[in-house]
Amino acid sequence: MSAGRSENAPLSTRRRNRVQVLDALRSSGSASRADLARRTGLSRSTISGLITELIGDGLVVDRAETRDPGAQGGRPGALLSLDRSAGAALAIDFGHTHLRVALADLSAEILAERELKIDVDGSASAALDAAAELTREVLEEAELTVDDLIGAAMGLPGPIDRATGAVGSSVILPDWVGLQPAQEFAHRLGAPVGVIVDNDANLATLGEARFGAAIGATDLVYVKVASGIGAGILLGGRLHRGAAGSAGELGHVLHDAEGDICRCGNRGCLETVAGAAPLLRLLRHRHGPELTTRGMAELAMSGDVGARRVLIDAGRAIGRSLADLSNILGPDQIVIGGDLGGEGSALIDGIRESLGRFALPAVVGSVELSGGQLGNRAELLGGLSLVIGDTERLSSSRMGVTR
Ligand SMILES: [Zn+2]
Repeated sequence: MSAGRSENAPLSTRRRNRVQVLDALRSSGSASRADLARRTGLSRSTISGLITELIGDGLVVDRAETRDPGAQGGRPGALLSLDRSAGAALAIDFGHTHLRVALADLSAEILAERELKIDVDGSASAALDAAAELTREVLEEAELTVDDLIGAAMGLPGPIDRATGAVGSSVILPDWVGLQPAQEFAHRLGAPVGVIVDNDANLATLGEARFGAAIGATDLVYVKVASGIGAGILLGGRLHRGAAGSAGELGHVLHDAEGDICRCGNRGCLETVAGAAPLLRLLRHRHGPELTTRGMAELAMSGDVGARRVLIDAGRAIGRSLADLSNILGPDQIVIGGDLGGEGSALIDGIRESLGRFALPAVVGSVELSGGQLGNRAELLGGLSLVIGDTERLSSSRMGVTR
């Protein structure tokens, strides 16, 4: 299990150190620079540099400095903390049929949260309007304003072009194509909020890696199995997004060349046999046309033999592709999330079986397979961690507009 762990490349080391310091402040409430050095194992000079940077970013306050400037000469003993006044972070998660919004303080403690069933694919404009409306609601509940936001992260179930911030596929989210969701959202809020837009599976990957099933993993493959099948890939501690933001489209690898036509236009993609739609088709004649993806997962969890069989078979199909991916990437951890994944899902039994059969023994021996622990909040929590832990990138690529 620990075989794949290694030191990160220098670029991500600085960010990891930053996150470590923020984590230490989160768990301790307040600490001196010396405390932080002890807790994190980082050198005093590294801590000192990071704290200067974090104070500059408005994430950390120096209490001694704030209370009584000049009176406290002992810099090393000064008490540092994350302050509410430093701001709040917002995360928005668009699924194909839902919208979730969460507001958190800078210690990632959720202040308010909303969920709405909405046809996200059908109308981008209506979905963005709803996101702005829910944002106003969570801000009001937390007695904050849009000016308190240090940034926002938005997850979308499709590839995002990193260079332009636009939705990159004409077939996966047709009504969103060419749209700049970050600008559209900031415009609706009427404030220059920096918005990071990312693929939903990528945000869920960060969520599980920071708060859930994969804490400490450096080479992680997270698979979201819900309406569609998407993967997030963490390599050396960093998300691998690919040139056009399309990395991790596991649902569209070939499963059966003679199979059904997929929504992407290709034939026999993994999604055509293991996505929610074909699985529901297998069960609806017995459980009725109203059966939902969540309902199917609950049936399997409660021991329904048919539902378990369907999920195990889907897991075998997904595991077949994951075996190839694992042979190539050599992950230390694979986490299965989404409505059909999660701890205890029968899907994981099928995946384990195929991994064992089709991946190299050395790969199988060094990878840990588990279900996601954060459920359908993984995307929101990953989004929040991206905003809180990544303000340097946020400030260098602010995409908001002022009305
Ligand atoms: Zn496809």
